[in-house]
Formats: sequence, C-alpha cells, structure tokens
Amino acid sequence: MPKQLTADQKRALAARVNYYRELGIYDFYRREVDVARAPSPAEDDRELGAIITAPAVDLFAPQLPERAAADTSEALRIIRHDLGDCTRCKLHKLGRKQIVFGVGDPKAELMFVGEGPGADEDEQGEPFVGRAGQLLNKMIEAMGLNRRQVYIANVVKCRPPGNRTPERDETETCSPFLLRQIETIRPRAIVALGAVAAKALLQINASMGELRGRTYDFRGSRLFVTYHPAYLLRDPRQKGETWKDLQQVMKFLGLQAPKRSD
Ligand code: SF4
Repeated sequence: MPKQLTADQKRALAARVNYYRELGIYDFYRREVDVARAPSPAEDDRELGAIITAPAVDLFAPQLPERAAADTSEALRIIRHDLGDCTRCKLHKLGRKQIVFGVGDPKAELMFVGEGPGADEDEQGEPFVGRAGQLLNKMIEAMGLNRRQVYIANVVKCRPPGNRTPERDETETCSPFLLRQIETIRPRAIVALGAVAAKALLQINASMGELRGRTYDFRGSRLFVTYHPAYLLRDPRQKGETWKDLQQVMKFLGLQAPKRSD
C-alpha cells in the first residue's frame, strides 16, 4: 500500500524540489529505502549502538554540476560557486556579513556539522572559530586529529540574527548545499553537533536523549550525534557524555587518543 507523506515531509519535499528547479533540474527519481525501526534504549546494547537508516527520498539527480569535477576540491568550489551571493532564504537580509561555507580537508574521513555561524564566524567567514570553535578544536585533538584533517560545516551558512536557532524554512532551503558537500566529501563518519544539526540531517523530530547513543546510516556515511560545543560551554557537566560519543566515533574510525605527556 503506498505510504502517505506527512505535512512536514510534503513541505520538505516541496522545498527540495523548488531548490532543484532553481538549478534547472526537473527530472527526479524516487528510491524506496528501508526505514529501520528505532530501537528502544533497552534494545540498544550493541557496541556501537543501533544503526538506523535515515529516512530519505533521494532526489540527487545526476546532473549536479560538481559530479563532473576532477576532484573533491574542485567539486566543493563548484558548490560554493552555485551558492553565490545567496539570497534563497531570509537570512541573507538579517544582518549577515558573509556566507560561511565550510572548511577543512575535502577528502576528510570525519566531518562535523553544526547549526549555523555565530558572530565570530560571520566576521571571519569560517565555521567554529569563536569560543565554541576552540572547544571543538580540543575535541578534535582529543580524538588524535587536528582541525585541518576534518571538514567542518553548518546546516545554514548565514548567521541567524542574535544567534537564534535557524528556522525550519531556513534549514530546508540551505541544507541541500550541505548535503552536496557531504555527497562530495563522502566522509566515513559525520558528527552532528547538537539537536538542530541532527534533526536537519535526519529529518526527524527527537530530543538529544533520543538522538545520542545510537548511530545512523546516512547516505553512505555513519552519523553520530553529540552535544554542540556552545552547549558544553554553558553546561560543562555534559563533557563526559560528549567524550563517550566521540569515543564511539574513534572506535568506528580506528582512531587512538594521543598519549598524554606528563
Ligand atoms: Fe542562502 Fe543558506 Fe544563507 Fe539562506 S542561509 S541565504 S539559503 S546561504
């Protein structure tokens, strides 16, 4: 029996279709995917937690221009060029200084996704450069990596005024560019920083308690969810829980924590 789309799904689908029309893409195909039932915490006793297939209607048409790029660096440049001086959502007229696209290794195995730029990021044009960014750098170093070895991006690429949470129409309009970045980089692991990023990627409405502690099969990558560094600055008691999440990522990627020098 055909599955009925919810109102939220219809809205998200319409936004995605409009976005591709802007690119001059009119032909789509729909691929049915298995949506595994989310397990209860009691069932979630495997080492890496349950693997959940993210609900997705795959609208990635082969005509995307970056598909013809010689390498991932060029592909990312093409996506940035497509973004242009973007006015697709209202964030373009709410005080942004510049678009904050993303930074890092175009072939990174690990990608971090936050919710949107803050004041420092808007000033410098790079994600996670303020206090939260410094904490993210420490988290990355604790995993045995450095910032240049990962890729960092946000769901929305313009600063929401007053650092408010991005609104649904903004995340829906901007997230196709993030998805194109992910499709280009093809990281083995993605860490969604905070509920806004996790919900935008997974297109599910759930609390951090429900989102953390399990992993998701996301477009060929394994997606993990942990707290946003800005939240950890406000509530450092959650740093231990965050470290547990990052250790799951390290285990998945085969990373070793650096030895501490006394
Ligand atoms: Fe464009 Fe994204 Fe900025 Fe909105 S947030 S104006 S969609 S770049």
